Amino acid sequence: MSNHTTSFILKTLQSILPTNKKQGFLPLHEPYLSGNTLKYVKDCVESGWVSYLGSYVDKFENQLAEYVGTKHAVVVTSGTSALHLALKVCDVKDGDEVLIPALSFVATANSVSYCNATPHFIDIAENTLGIDSKKLDNYLSKSTENKNGFCINSKTRKKISAIIAMHCFGHPVDMNPLVEVAKKYNIQIIEDGAQSLGSKYKGKNLGTYGKISTLSFNGNKIITTGGGGALLTNDNSLAKHAKHLSTVAKSSKGVGYFHDEIGYNYRMPNINAALGCAQLEQLPYFLEKKRNLANRYKEAFVNIKGVKFFSECDFAESNYWLNTLILDNPNDASNLIKITNDVGIMTRPAWTLIPDLPMYKDCPSADLSTARNLCSRIVNIPSSVVLGESE
Ligand SMILES: *Cc1c(COP(=O)(O)O)cnc(C)c1O
Repeated sequence: MSNHTTSFILKTLQSILPTNKKQGFLPLHEPYLSGNTLKYVKDCVESGWVSYLGSYVDKFENQLAEYVGTKHAVVVTSGTSALHLALKVCDVKDGDEVLIPALSFVATANSVSYCNATPHFIDIAENTLGIDSKKLDNYLSKSTENKNGFCINSKTRKKISAIIAMHCFGHPVDMNPLVEVAKKYNIQIIEDGAQSLGSKYKGKNLGTYGKISTLSFNGNKIITTGGGGALLTNDNSLAKHAKHLSTVAKSSKGVGYFHDEIGYNYRMPNINAALGCAQLEQLPYFLEKKRNLANRYKEAFVNIKGVKFFSECDFAESNYWLNTLILDNPNDASNLIKITNDVGIMTRPAWTLIPDLPMYKDCPSADLSTARNLCSRIVNIPSSVVLGESE
């Protein structure tokens, strides 16, 4: 029965995906480098402005802020460094706890650890794969108390100072109820939008719901700068502080070297920002082609037993960064991953839940039944822009 299910899913994938594979296999997500990419990079090389100074950094920051609809964007070396700085400028301190979904890329937790704070794991909702606000509210009402306006973990006596909402595979977290819960317990929201540039919630771009949000431009994300990331915010002082910390906290007064706090070398080089400008120009095209591909997957899997194509909710417009199948049976999921990779169709399981990683196994955690139930049944399937180009 099981073998029947997975071989049928494989056949369905093969009916959608091209048979001629350039490198002998179909990658899960490959960058699409066309448009003005070469022109802008050539400009950097010819002018010599390849490093930390140059016009593309400012241009990319302005264009990002304009695209997402925030007042400010600060570009940095990675999505991870963006998260680290976001927590820093939101004043997450030594000994604090930060709520994060158990299902995320490990960087979400690592950034918390870099601040000497502790990740505190919470469950996800089946319809979004992101934080389940109702469950969170229930959990916080039972396991925390309010002390001088702060949310304190009753067991550890530590302050819960922030919550990171990660928009999984590009699918928006149900933000309105989350914003309500965060208000109720006085916890600030940081959006980890590494996977969700271009996605909307109730018609408004993600990245505008939190106090601050972050992006990643790693090679496998919807747009890439080779490596890179950004912080987005409407708050002038947070943006200014993030920029300051990312540039080794060098005081702008005079020509000498004076640094007024411990900063970081997290600036994005101009040559990476040049790539970013070219990529951002093409984002509307990427979104269109990704939606094409998602629609074809959705149609193809609609009547197939044992598997569901993961679709956006009514309140959401997903960028469909990584297309996702959810199988009824975990054994089918691992079997499917094996047989697809064997024939050169790259598929991947979801991340191991972060609390199951050795360095995070003793961190505080809510009930994670939905995350546990789903994570072994998720299979990510090829999602490159180029695959959405063929009709
Ligand atoms: C990719 C990713 C990051 C980290 O971004 P890098 O640019 O690789 O450092 C953080 N969080 C999530 C959810 C990601 O997918």
